[in-house]
Amino acid sequence: MGRVATVNQIIPFSCVDGPGSRLVIFLQGCNFNCKNCHNPYTIDMCDNCGDCVATCPVGALSLIIEQEKPKVVWDSELCTQCDTCLATCPRQSSPKTRQYTVPQMLELIRKQVHFINGITVSGGEATLQLPFIIELFKAIKTSTDLAHLSCMIDSNGYVSEGGWQQVMPYLDGAMIDLKSWQQHTHRYITGRDNHRVFSSLKLLAAEGKLYEIRLLYIPKISDIDSEVNAIAGYLNQLPASVRVKLNAFQHHGVTGEARQWDTCSEEQMLELAARLAERGVGNLVLPNVYL
Ligand code: SF4
Ligand code: SF4
Repeated sequence: MGRVATVNQIIPFSCVDGPGSRLVIFLQGCNFNCKNCHNPYTIDMCDNCGDCVATCPVGALSLIIEQEKPKVVWDSELCTQCDTCLATCPRQSSPKTRQYTVPQMLELIRKQVHFINGITVSGGEATLQLPFIIELFKAIKTSTDLAHLSCMIDSNGYVSEGGWQQVMPYLDGAMIDLKSWQQHTHRYITGRDNHRVFSSLKLLAAEGKLYEIRLLYIPKISDIDSEVNAIAGYLNQLPASVRVKLNAFQHHGVTGEARQWDTCSEEQMLELAARLAERGVGNLVLPNVYL
């Protein structure tokens, strides 16, 4: 029996999740609990409690018994994407996930193969389902009609070195989030420290597989601006090819206390970018929109 992934969403074309045009697979489940999360319903796995079923206004959800256990079934044909179920769920989860085997995912990729340069696995946190990713990437790299596709991971960087080493032979690149510089700030925002994030960045850079580091700017909350000298020094010792993407905090999709936080304006972002550039940081990528 091959690996099965729990998938929240698949986007057939994206131009912002790695180089070129990419099919992006968003896996369900995350090991961070970021206060600023824009998709908090991707954090946990559904436990089939059934609480959301009765709230669906069009009857797209039902509770069945499968192998003597309750199971929520989602009818995508009936669903109007009103997201009432997401607002109802007490677990930061979604009933709108699907299970995919590797052959099913390959079939889907083959339908798009003439229009994409590669695939990116994102989340949630992609690496929580690493055995599936390894099997999928391996199958792509060993299929004559798919081997030209680049295989990338978008991650919070919390996976162990051993995990990266397992996927490394099939991995073309990774995009890693650095949500804050100081441990206590990172822990406040995400619920975890950033030791492993730095280890992942170091390993991927050494292997030539760090495509992009993403810095999150939340005014007065993240420490990207107050630690600009230390961060610039760190970025300057990474390979020059690594893209430094600056993300501006916005309220879209955010719940809880982070809705009270100030958002990051274009002016603030440009000022931060200028301060990094003054300190020798190149390859900066700024947001296109501030919504
Ligand atoms: S998003 Fe779909 S499944 Fe969820 S409540 Fe709305 S119609 Fe029902
Ligand atoms: S999505 Fe949430 S509310 Fe619905 S069955 Fe799963 S855990 Fe329960």
